[in-house]
Amino acid sequence: MVLKLAPTPLPVTERAVLNEANACTTDRPLDTRPLSEERAFAFWQKDIPEAYWGLDGAALADRIAEARRRLGSRCVVLGHHYQREDIIQFADYRGDSFNLARWAAERGDAEFIVFCGVHFMAESADILSQPHQKVVLPNMSAGCSMADMADPDDVYACWDELQAAGITDPSTPAGAGLRAGVIPVTYMNSAASLKAFCGRNGGIVCTSSNAPKVYDWAFERGSKLLFFPDQHLGRNTGLKKGIGLDEMTLWDYTLPFGSLGGNTLEQLERARVILWKGHCSVHRRFSVAQIEKARREHPGITVIVHPECTMEVVQAADMDGSTEFITRTITEAPAGAKFAVGTEINLVSRLARENPDKTVFCLDPVVCPCATMYRIHPAYLAWALDELADGRIVNQISLDDETARDAKVALERMLAVR
Ligand code: SF4
Repeated sequence: MVLKLAPTPLPVTERAVLNEANACTTDRPLDTRPLSEERAFAFWQKDIPEAYWGLDGAALADRIAEARRRLGSRCVVLGHHYQREDIIQFADYRGDSFNLARWAAERGDAEFIVFCGVHFMAESADILSQPHQKVVLPNMSAGCSMADMADPDDVYACWDELQAAGITDPSTPAGAGLRAGVIPVTYMNSAASLKAFCGRNGGIVCTSSNAPKVYDWAFERGSKLLFFPDQHLGRNTGLKKGIGLDEMTLWDYTLPFGSLGGNTLEQLERARVILWKGHCSVHRRFSVAQIEKARREHPGITVIVHPECTMEVVQAADMDGSTEFITRTITEAPAGAKFAVGTEINLVSRLARENPDKTVFCLDPVVCPCATMYRIHPAYLAWALDELADGRIVNQISLDDETARDAKVALERMLAVR
């Protein structure tokens, strides 16, 4: 019999992430230390048995390998590009959030999908996987500070305000799109309840790979977009689509209800894109000064950044694109090519290691890993796999039927425009 132990979801705030970044030292390799020696463990899921706390990287690797042997093909392990090497070595698939969710859907033979990423990714895997499959997130505190900047209640309040101001029309049937033409678009990096909101209100999900195509899809159906949670991806995509800065406005969700997110009615009426004031704590660190320094010190270098970086950084770079785009560009470049990269350090370090005939380095010399991805310490993976092998499911990510159904509508719209 399989026993399910109740998961304990933990909220992620940027304050906690910044505390972890302050505890992060960049003058040592990103090797795994025992859980008990991780200074940021205080912020993480604590109910893991103490037997795992003192194990070093080698002991944990042995344990994970043994649990995987016991589980065999019943279990598939997915690893996001930003995971540390001690996790990635056990991943059957590695990729970005969207591709991992697709792979999860395609591995219908696996009873358990152990998702080494963050919470919203495991939710998408649960939505796209088959009913008999169970998705496990090894550490329930592995969330995403950007996703948590779009609290569903704040988004619903924004929508209500837009309706009350006449920017959207509440009489339009749900799912039919709104008469005034505001289409809600959520980035993949958001809670499943917001994907469901988009599904119910004629909206769609996008990724950093397909955002421009999703803009086309949305503007075929409405005259405005409400884009959340990442203002930078939304703004950078708008500019690529020829939408001027004066046609995009920022919705500040921290302002009280009734403030129109800090906008005047005229600004909202003129705007084609209403951007949620969210950002990624990792990608916001990159700067134009770093790009200038890289060019000074490495003449001929190609600067490639993620579109979650600010507009100024994306415009100063030579190229921008998703983690898959960055990976493919560097991997396919000829020997001798030089890249300064503006994305998460685990991925950049891996690309440098896997492309020894090229120069690959991170734009930010003191960048820390994505603190929430880093919370998937191998001790958690060992514990989750041991429990599964012993017939107990811990940290299962399981959405209610209504949320899963509506979120799937928005995800399937996204799949259709790829
Ligand atoms: S890199 Fe940024 S957007 Fe991605 S999981 Fe980490 S905090 Fe969230």
